[in-house]
Amino acid sequence: MLILTCPCCHVTAEETEFHAGGEAHLKRIGPDGAEGEFESYLFMRQNPKGVHLERWRHVYGCGKWFHLARDTATLEVFGAYSAQTTSPPDHIRSAIQEKHPEWQWQGAS
Ligand SMILES: [Zn+2]
Repeated sequence: MLILTCPCCHVTAEETEFHAGGEAHLKRIGPDGAEGEFESYLFMRQNPKGVHLERWRHVYGCGKWFHLARDTATLEVFGAYSAQTTSPPDHIRSAIQEKHPEWQWQGAS
């Protein structure tokens, strides 16, 4: 079971208090975007065995969305951070690279 800490209200709870919202840092494509880009935005998602950056919502708490960096294989949580950021903060990138030196931030896809 995942134990998460909400970066907004700082409550630590089991994952049942939260709701997963899919991949973080998606690049939104508007109606003027190319058809292929829009299709990728709608349907193409990463599903890695390892480090994944995700959106979560504190459903039974403050109700706010945030981003979470975790390992999908071990359930290790590297950190949670504001959903109003376009990339993971440096301290979370460092925590990931300590355990996974091969991991690189790829930027918004
Ligand atoms: Zn919260």
